[in-house]
Amino acid sequence: MMKENVLAAGTKSRVNLAITMATSEPSIFTAGKAGGYISISRPKKILENLDINGDNLDINGEGRLCSWVDSMRASSPTRIGATPSLADLDQSSWIDHHPSALDMFEQIIDASKGKKIVMFLDYDGTLSPIVDDPDRAFMSDAMRKTVRKLATCFPTAIVSGRCRDKIYSFVRLAELYYAGSHGMDIKGPAKGSKYKKGSGRGVQFQAARKFLPMIDEVYKKLVEKTKATPGAQVEHNKFCVSVHFRRVEEKKWNELAQQVRSVLKEYPKLRLTQGRKVLEIRPTIEWDKGKALEFLLESLGFANSTNVFPVYIGDDRTDEDAFKILIEKGQGFGILVSKFPKETSASYSLREPDEVMDFLKRLVQWKRPSLRAQL
Ligand SMILES: [Mg+2]
Repeated sequence: MMKENVLAAGTKSRVNLAITMATSEPSIFTAGKAGGYISISRPKKILENLDINGDNLDINGEGRLCSWVDSMRASSPTRIGATPSLADLDQSSWIDHHPSALDMFEQIIDASKGKKIVMFLDYDGTLSPIVDDPDRAFMSDAMRKTVRKLATCFPTAIVSGRCRDKIYSFVRLAELYYAGSHGMDIKGPAKGSKYKKGSGRGVQFQAARKFLPMIDEVYKKLVEKTKATPGAQVEHNKFCVSVHFRRVEEKKWNELAQQVRSVLKEYPKLRLTQGRKVLEIRPTIEWDKGKALEFLLESLGFANSTNVFPVYIGDDRTDEDAFKILIEKGQGFGILVSKFPKETSASYSLREPDEVMDFLKRLVQWKRPSLRAQL
């Protein structure tokens, strides 16, 4: 039997409560099938559509691959009604379980009282809109200004599937922590951080260095193999490779997934994960955005702290690893960025990057009212 302090969103009352839950089955907090610690009743069909054996895809199973493509459609909706299975899910019920972080702002602040807020932000779809060309996923100047102010108030990290250099070229804020390649490549501020306890030495960590030659090789093979599919784009993210479906006609998604699988079956030490209109290939090491979050909290001196309040904002399946860690730790909460109901372990939701910016501005204004005029 274990006890976990979790932050639960109220339903009808829309009031946030800090509650203590007792359970003899900690796995209910991490199981993807149950949709996190708050379960939503939904038609069985939806569960089947979304069940792809967690985030790890079985690249040898034909049926699994098809269900993956279905799942990517479900997790990458571009218009209402585009995903019939999820359209069945009651939007208002979903919002009751994952209320807007803007609507719940006061309750969130109350829950963080006396604790140190640490901010973790995904990039694509969270700070920048999802665009067809991943090389042009720029963040707005207004968002950059907001994140800069945020970092003066709280330790702030960007956690992305992209390679660290690429993500830095988009964000261009030297004062942040960056966790690229799904957290496999972590670096703290070049000049050290004012938040870091203990020594002033910078934070740096690369979990999968020995996989670099293999990743290079797979990248080249994928570029060659996917040439046949118009719009397919392969991105080298240093410790992982992304195959973008954003500009590929939907009827060609199966074909492209098959091409990826045909390359990957020769590399049992690599695994395939799914994101929004993207397939990602990474080393089979126990490392993900959730582990990156834990590593960064530790680096900041909060390893065994009970007064830390991490907030993680992200829009993707890979962000779920971080949401789950927060539930396991019973600290802080996750915010899913989505306009559509989705299976998630996040407590709250925001609809789009503009709402993320509004939420971050409110945090800054609350922490440092003197900055209000500059936002
Ligand atoms: Mg994202």
